[in-house]
Amino acid sequence: MWCIAPIELGEVVIIWGGKVWTHREIEELAPGYPRMATHICMVAPGLFLGPIEPQHLATDLDTSEVVNHSCRPNLGVQGQVVLVARRAIAVGEELTYDYETTDTEGMWFECRCGVPECQGIIDGQSWKRPEWREANAGYLSWNVLETVRRAGV
Ligand SMILES: [Zn+2]
Repeated sequence: MWCIAPIELGEVVIIWGGKVWTHREIEELAPGYPRMATHICMVAPGLFLGPIEPQHLATDLDTSEVVNHSCRPNLGVQGQVVLVARRAIAVGEELTYDYETTDTEGMWFECRCGVPECQGIIDGQSWKRPEWREANAGYLSWNVLETVRRAGV
């Protein structure tokens, strides 16, 4: 998803909607709807925000559903479903957010974002590192903050 008009720091860019699915439901639907395993956002342990109807993911995706990951993102999550600008964003820049700022399970891929601070393997475990939490302070979802709180780290 690309920026088509200048965005100011703190501006609301995306508010996700949909339906909350269980991990089991997603596993059952993923063979027929592969994007059910990838185009979702974790909102609590074992629970993921996804489309209201899985067949939606087999057709046209809403632009808010195709925000790529970056380890130096220009968007950050507030709460669970609001994405705001972490800095001013110029026309033509790709809009990105750090998937690990929302998801702590059910994710694994090798990041190729290319920034010096790239996490490499994106597996939802960066919350365990204090320096990562500090770098993303103010942009961690309730799910990540709750995971940190429960782990007592
Ligand atoms: Zn990266």
